[in-house]
Amino acid sequence: PAHYPSSTKLHCRHCISCVSEKTRKEIMTKGSSGMEVILTSLENTRDLQTILNILCILNELLTVGGGRRVGVFVSKGGTAIVLQLLVQSGKEASPSEELMLHLHSLLAKVGPKDRKFGIKARLNGALNVTVNLLKQNLQNHKLLLPCLQVLRVYSSNSVNAVSLGKSGVVELMFKVIGPYSKKNTTLLKVALDTLAALLKSKMNARRAVDRAHVPALLAIYQDWHRNDTRHRHMLIRKSILGCIKNITNIKLGRKAFIDADGMRILYNTSNVVFHVSVDDVVDESDDNEDTEVDTENDTENEEDEKDPRNDDIETDINKLRSRQVLTRPFEELRVYERFFREFSEDFQPPRLKDTPVDLDSISISKAPESKLELELVQGLSQLLLDASQSVNGGCGGEGPQEESGEQAVLEVPDTAALLPLHDPDLYLVMVKGTCSVPGYTEVAYPDYFGHVAPNFREHILERVYGVQRSKIFQDIERLIHPTDILDKVVYDLDFCPVIDDGECLKFNSQFESGNLRKAIQVRKFEYDLVLNSDINSNHYHQWFYFEVSSMRVGVPYRFNIINCEKSNSQFNYGMQVLMYSVQDAISGSPRWVRTGSDICYYKNHFSRSSIAAGGQKGKSYYTMTFTVTFQHKDDVCYFAYHYPYTYSTLKMHLQKLRALRTPQIYYRQEQLCETLGGNCCPLLTITAMPESTGNDHICQFRNRPVVFLTARVHPGETNASWVMKGTLEFLMSSSPLAQSLRESYIFKIIPMLNPDGVINGNHRCSLSGEDLNRQWLTPSAELHPTIYHTKSLLQYLTAIGRTPLVFCDYHGHSRKKNVFMYGCSIKETVWQTNVSASSSDLQEDLGYRTLPKLLSQLAPAFSLSSCSFVVERSKESTARVVVWREIGVQRSYTMESTLCGCDQGKYKGLQIGTRELEEMGSQFCVALLRLRRLTSPLELRNHHTHLLDMESDLIETRCNITCPTTYVMEEDEPAFLEEVDYSAESDEENDPDADHAHLDPSELSQNRF
Ligand SMILES: [Zn+2]
Repeated sequence: PAHYPSSTKLHCRHCISCVSEKTRKEIMTKGSSGMEVILTSLENTRDLQTILNILCILNELLTVGGGRRVGVFVSKGGTAIVLQLLVQSGKEASPSEELMLHLHSLLAKVGPKDRKFGIKARLNGALNVTVNLLKQNLQNHKLLLPCLQVLRVYSSNSVNAVSLGKSGVVELMFKVIGPYSKKNTTLLKVALDTLAALLKSKMNARRAVDRAHVPALLAIYQDWHRNDTRHRHMLIRKSILGCIKNITNIKLGRKAFIDADGMRILYNTSNVVFHVSVDDVVDESDDNEDTEVDTENDTENEEDEKDPRNDDIETDINKLRSRQVLTRPFEELRVYERFFREFSEDFQPPRLKDTPVDLDSISISKAPESKLELELVQGLSQLLLDASQSVNGGCGGEGPQEESGEQAVLEVPDTAALLPLHDPDLYLVMVKGTCSVPGYTEVAYPDYFGHVAPNFREHILERVYGVQRSKIFQDIERLIHPTDILDKVVYDLDFCPVIDDGECLKFNSQFESGNLRKAIQVRKFEYDLVLNSDINSNHYHQWFYFEVSSMRVGVPYRFNIINCEKSNSQFNYGMQVLMYSVQDAISGSPRWVRTGSDICYYKNHFSRSSIAAGGQKGKSYYTMTFTVTFQHKDDVCYFAYHYPYTYSTLKMHLQKLRALRTPQIYYRQEQLCETLGGNCCPLLTITAMPESTGNDHICQFRNRPVVFLTARVHPGETNASWVMKGTLEFLMSSSPLAQSLRESYIFKIIPMLNPDGVINGNHRCSLSGEDLNRQWLTPSAELHPTIYHTKSLLQYLTAIGRTPLVFCDYHGHSRKKNVFMYGCSIKETVWQTNVSASSSDLQEDLGYRTLPKLLSQLAPAFSLSSCSFVVERSKESTARVVVWREIGVQRSYTMESTLCGCDQGKYKGLQIGTRELEEMGSQFCVALLRLRRLTSPLELRNHHTHLLDMESDLIETRCNITCPTTYVMEEDEPAFLEEVDYSAESDEENDPDADHAHLDPSELSQNRF
């Protein structure tokens, strides 16, 4: 090893000026060879002066030109060469300070951009050289800064953090950081960031706790808060908080934090900061010395930075091709023939009846059940007329109602004119035939009275800035002022009944589709609510539907649903909850209305067990909070996630629809199968009667193309049922359009694929605890009967050459606005991936775009730009993809309706209501009629090329290339500006949802148009 005289001082500016800018450019532009030459020289020279010169050149080169040059440097092994030089020099008795300065400056530039920097530094033995240099130069700020910058990069590697901790670097950092001072803020910031990175290691966090650094950090924080009155050093305060946060990731750290009065300190300081405007916070004035700070840290994830949305797209061309294979022998499918009697019906004068017995199996014999019907009415009137009396029969099953008949007088709003499909008496009859797991004996008023859509507009709420913050502060106050907190369980499905002292609200959820597990009175007018998970699962908390009574008038009540799971919600973007007032209903306005103020949705401090989080650790729950002021005394009010639509409601509607049959309408209702819970899954067949019994007419009747519709596989997506109601009403109406539509198609409709889930208040699953829309690949006849038999019906159709023209499954979407469709297209999927696999060779009929295009012209809530035709791997077992791929239905869709509202079209700025949803369902029918008009004459003549041309015209194919389909995003809204994460979890990086929440808004908007 060469000996370097440590006294040598060089003026690098001078040296670098010898190398002209032209030469510098040449070095870089002639490929990488220039860099190779420099690095080779650096590696081989032993002369200090030359080394310093080369380091100067490199420093200069890498300062300008951004990441590309650094990339070349790293790829040519520059990092290792410089690290070796550092280690070599470190062995010297008194290494050149100048050299050390240059080496660290260079490493500080390269480190953040070299993914393997931490490992390389450790393996080369560089960590200790830097640490020793630091220890000896704590007062030498010139050298200290680049050393700290390099140390910060070392520390971002978790193995390094542990080893550095052992070398006393945590202590060392505490020597650098200190109370408020205007000097050396850059240095301080780097030291704090290094410390924060080190404290991610539990061992280091523990070390900090043991040496009483938690109160020290809090004191430093307070000092900065007190002195930095103009808020010019927010980043320093943020870094101090980062250190504290990482310490509190361990239990001991949390204890130390609480013991040091951390809650109160941070609460008080935050309350002051609250009044600072955002612009002040963003100003970083003093901290702009090294702009490279912005690009630090995240380089380890460089590889993951490629568009995460592409990961889920199906790239296997073979999987994308339709493979309409008959997976079951026809003999096995033949049993489904009985559901397709329209294919063989000859309408000859009736012979003696030989119809199957299970036809119209839902019909109810009214007479023998009248006694029970009366009991139910009594139950209701008891709820209404004597609200103070605690409700029995809720938990214990069949609590006998002993009241006399006199009490059973109930004012029922007369809605017959407004709600032709509703009939309270019939509803009670239907409830009787519905099997629920808890054996419900009560009926919720809204379902009994019915819902008449209000005539006023319900705007999407403008969210007031600061709501979330103030709500979180209220939550924190629970810890700071524990004596103010009641924490009284006032409703609990597991231990009922709960004492009623007249000082709290009464809750109930023991009715069809009800969901509320527990209510806890936190403060006098504030309640924490816990939702039930789906039966046989331990998550999916989203749907709620419960009753509240014993309220005070004119007082704002705050409700917090505290075990939500999704990382974001439309409740952050203007959606309100639904409320139904029985008093309003009785006085003539039976309706659900959007209600609630101060609504927001945020991550809370309750952590989820890894079992409940699907194996992921460190996940927390989310709170959905809303505030309501009740208008009427002695009211009974209901709250729901969305407009309820129970299974009994469906049965009532079907009964009423059946009564609308005319001699022109062919309508059949059959039981497709029985569910696990013992409920019937109805299958409808609707078409027009043949014009006559003449052969031509019978032939036309039998050969109409099939349209296959399903809905409500997800129980929490009640909007899907309202859309389906609109479709069914249109199909049964006497309008010429409806008649024309019936003459065009045979409709096969399964309006509720998951009756059990709906009845029992689930959000997503069936009784088996599974998402039925993920079972289409291999449904089990025992566990997923409705899916199994629906798929069989489709397989049968394909087997007999009657593959449906259109398949559509109605859903609701909780994160997006408007109504839109997901379809399947090979080409559009291939376009989304970078697989250049000769996509031009792919033949594809563009007909799949016609229906969405028509809908966007017809239905005001429908948005074409939100549609997607990409096939995702994660969706390969959904109805849409399986029906497209296996059954061979080209127009196979999921139609998603927003739970919130619209941001385009006629309903822009309004929340969606049942009227708009039903309209969507009927416009879907009109679109089908147009589709028929476009396709039928040509199809009959077998002119497929013409058909293609015509459809292509309609859908402006060129648009497909310039603005390809949107990819299905988890979120469509940017993260909220005031988003606050105050959970204790540390590994946010592992939370895929969190990533979405931090997506660049500009990226999102790109995908929307
Ligand atoms: Zn769904």
